[in-house]
Amino acid sequence: MSELQELYQQLIIDHGRHPRNFSKLACANHSKEGYNPLCGDRLTVYVWEEAGLIKDMSFTGSGCAISMASASLMTGALKGKNLSEVKKLFDGFHALMTGGKEVPENNLGKLIALAGVAEYPMRVKCATLSWHTLMAAMDDSDELVSTE
Ligand code: ZN
Repeated sequence: MSELQELYQQLIIDHGRHPRNFSKLACANHSKEGYNPLCGDRLTVYVWEEAGLIKDMSFTGSGCAISMASASLMTGALKGKNLSEVKKLFDGFHALMTGGKEVPENNLGKLIALAGVAEYPMRVKCATLSWHTLMAAMDDSDELVSTE
C-alpha cells in the first residue's frame, strides 16, 4: 500500500470512528432518511439551507465505517457551499465511485480519500448513501431513499 493510500485509509477510519457533524440539526429545513439494505446502513441527513446556500448540515444514524466516514466527509465538504457547487461535488463524487473516467477536475478535497472504495462494488452504495439521501432531502421528496 502506498503512503497516500495509507493516509486515505487512516482518514476513513478516523471519520468512521469519530464522525464529524454527527447530531440532529435543530434548525434544519430539509431532512431525509436513507437506507442501504445491502449493508444495513441507515442515516438521516439534516440541512439548513437559505437562499440556495448550505448554512449548516449534519447527520445521524448507524452503519459501517465507510457509510459513516462518507457522511462525515460529505457534511464537512458541503457546509457553506451553494447548491450548484453541491451538485458539482455530487457529480464528481459519483464519477469517482463509479470509476468513471471523467472525474471532473473540481476540487473534491478530502472526499478523494474514498476513491479506493470504487474497487469494491459492494461498498460503493455505502459511500454514496449519504449523497443520495442529501439530494433527496434537497428535493423534499417524500420517498424513503433506498440504494436498491
Ligand atoms: Zn455499509
